[in-house]
Amino acid sequence: MKSKLLQNQRVCHCRECQKAIGTTFNARVLMRIEDVAISGPINTFHSTEALERGFCSHCGTTIFSRRVTAGVIGLTVGSLDDPSLFKPDMHFWVSSKQPWLEISDDLPQYLEGPPSLGY
Ligand SMILES: [Zn+2]
Repeated sequence: MKSKLLQNQRVCHCRECQKAIGTTFNARVLMRIEDVAISGPINTFHSTEALERGFCSHCGTTIFSRRVTAGVIGLTVGSLDDPSLFKPDMHFWVSSKQPWLEISDDLPQYLEGPPSLGY
């Protein structure tokens, strides 16, 4: 997946993402909020003060995490029409990675947030 609209494509292993999504990690594409149009019924909640999460109020699918203060929104790859286009460039918060999960790619791994913060 290559687009000028994409800020980055990353995998977050933090506990907040694990709990919010209900699985092991959050594979997500990051975009500017103004480049994304969301239609249909969604509900939101704040998993942290700065991070709002949105999910489909019909089926419960987690769709996004939105950081308004930074102007960005992370879309969950599993909610995209074609998740196979996802090309991650790093793993972060691997200090919270589940011990049974083995990362076998050669992408950079960061124990906590990405060096540039990325959002
Ligand atoms: Zn996370």
